[in-house]
Amino acid sequence: MEPTYEPKSRAARAGSTRASRRDHRGAAAVAACLSLFAGAGAASAEVSNGARRDAAGERLPVPVAPAAAAVVAPPVDPDWYPLDIVPRIVPPRGRLRCPDVELVVYRGDVLRYHHPVRIYAGFRERLRRFEEVVRDVAIEIYGRAPRRIVHIGAFNCRRIRGYPDVLSEHALGNGIDIAGFDFGRLPRGEQLPEGLPRAIAHPFRVRMKDHWDGGRRAADEVHQRFLHTLAERLIARPDIFRVLLGPAWPGHRNHFHFDVAPDRGVAIFEPVVGGTDAQGSQKATAP
Ligand SMILES: [Zn+2]
Repeated sequence: MEPTYEPKSRAARAGSTRASRRDHRGAAAVAACLSLFAGAGAASAEVSNGARRDAAGERLPVPVAPAAAAVVAPPVDPDWYPLDIVPRIVPPRGRLRCPDVELVVYRGDVLRYHHPVRIYAGFRERLRRFEEVVRDVAIEIYGRAPRRIVHIGAFNCRRIRGYPDVLSEHALGNGIDIAGFDFGRLPRGEQLPEGLPRAIAHPFRVRMKDHWDGGRRAADEVHQRFLHTLAERLIARPDIFRVLLGPAWPGHRNHFHFDVAPDRGVAIFEPVVGGTDAQGSQKATAP
């Protein structure tokens, strides 16, 4: 499924301003270190011949040898993601050529997907963390993990619908659409969490399209609580997905869209919750 969100900053997607800001920061740090090294070499050479003097022959203060600086590495941004440097802007017409990224077929490490997904290799770790959250919330609410995660697409080389010059994160294998979860019978000897209807002990399906807004049966309310809790936990974990779209975003009544685009954006319970860009302006439209 297509994330039809508005790319608030095409410039950002063109080369990821965030990524390039980091590149500049990194480059500046490296340059600073290099200049310190250069300064250290020149200073020690002159000091070994006596005091440093300016053009008029006056003594110059001896620079402190930056021995400590020599072992200081450039700052590492813990939020850095390899695809941040991949431009998202593409020609609006003609055959689409998607960036060459390493794709893998993934079945799920912690939980299984109902059908293997084709994804960018670096996205796999994010999905593994996602599966851990799904498992934990499911055990909390249903007393067991789901048998499988039901998705409706991952890699797909295409543009964002309505924005023909912007690449979909699906085109990088960097996004996934989740429709629901299938649960098996409660294992023999296990107890249902208190207050759950007996029906929950039998196999059942949870689907975004059927349960996000609850329903008439007692079990529907439990499924709604599961989906909402899962969404809250994922929103609270920016180390997993940066973009999280759901029912609050047009075209996403029946699935969650999760990806690791360069900029954060959340629209599951409310239309859009985003950060601020380098200029401090609100990201009013979308990730
Ligand atoms: Zn999607």
